[in-house]
Amino acid sequence: MYALVDGNNFFVSCERVFQPQLESRPVIVLSNNDGCAVARSNEAKALGIKMGAPFFTIKQLCQQHNVAVLSSNYTLYADMSKRMMSILKGLAVRQEVYSIDESFLDLSGISQLTQHAQLIRARVKQWIGLPVCVGIGQTKVLAKFANHLAKSYPFLGGVCNLAELSSDRLARAMQLTEVGEVWGIGRKLAQQLRAMGISTVYALKTANANQLAKVFSVNVARIVHELNGVPCIALEEYSNTQQQMVSSRSFGEPITNRDELIAALSFHCEQLSHKLTKQGLFARSLTFFAHSNRFKDDYVCHAVTLLLPAASNSFRMLTKLITPAMDAIFVPKINYKKAGIIISEMLSADDAIRDLLGSSNLSHDHLLPTLQAINRRYGKRTVRMASAILGHRWQMQRELMSASFTTDSSQLIIAS
Ligand SMILES: [Mg+2]
Repeated sequence: MYALVDGNNFFVSCERVFQPQLESRPVIVLSNNDGCAVARSNEAKALGIKMGAPFFTIKQLCQQHNVAVLSSNYTLYADMSKRMMSILKGLAVRQEVYSIDESFLDLSGISQLTQHAQLIRARVKQWIGLPVCVGIGQTKVLAKFANHLAKSYPFLGGVCNLAELSSDRLARAMQLTEVGEVWGIGRKLAQQLRAMGISTVYALKTANANQLAKVFSVNVARIVHELNGVPCIALEEYSNTQQQMVSSRSFGEPITNRDELIAALSFHCEQLSHKLTKQGLFARSLTFFAHSNRFKDDYVCHAVTLLLPAASNSFRMLTKLITPAMDAIFVPKINYKKAGIIISEMLSADDAIRDLLGSSNLSHDHLLPTLQAINRRYGKRTVRMASAILGHRWQMQRELMSASFTTDSSQLIIAS
């Protein structure tokens, strides 16, 4: 049996843990540069604020109803997510971290699943203060559907175990749920299915899988089988092993200045260096890119991929590629809106190969541990490359952001 555990209004819930005064007040969290609503509390949903609504269209409504409006604080959400996932890992046989606030759990061998699900809910709430819902089913698609029911029907108390529903009630619940709610059925596919008369979960469950495989793809047939309790989609325990690493950000305002762009790329080198060391990885090739506003007619995107002489995890080495990268991608007078770096080839220490002369294809920067220790002790980015302070206009507008409650000792919450 599988469980799907999903954080309720996750970003808002993370904020509420540290700002309890936001409890029972409508709250929304905005996307980068305070653009659109990306998370809403139930109270905000009840006011009719839609997911993805541009902030300027709802600003007045927010003022009228005293909605708390926050900039996104991804450092906080990522850290809370890590804590939630580690609690869940201890309560299951196997785990797949599916997204920042969702995890599939393999509960085989565990008896009394509903009680176990309640334990999961209670523990996450007690240990880190986050509310979650748990759905249990024979397959991943069913677990996801069960979670949808747990969220939609408050009388279930946050847990829905499909095995406990009579077949009549299960069929009824499936008849009442839109086909687009099924995991794996996107908006376009849902439209096509509706055009064929398949508009509810129940209709999809009882549809002819082979026929759908011919019309769409074998994936749709798999979903039908999963809805009937036949597991076809395996748990991906190791989906965390990355093939790629990215650090990029949209700018607070368009940038035309070369130094500003260098400062932004230096920042991304620092970010990537931090991620690489944390995971014991070394970068071999890096793609630098910068582009203008996607939604304008004169949209341009410039990118270049460069190889390091030896794979490295040090921001001192990665930063050295910025000058050749800028020579290749920077064009004056372009209003750049976003820039970043993608690492497309990574090595681990196990991949190190020594050539005949004994030099390795990994380069160890012996100063890096010391620099990192200084930054840990005296605060992030105490020691950095000078190029990173060439500009700051590129930084995001996040005027309404909460503090880094869990990741910065200078911003710890103080109980009085
Ligand atoms: Mg969620």
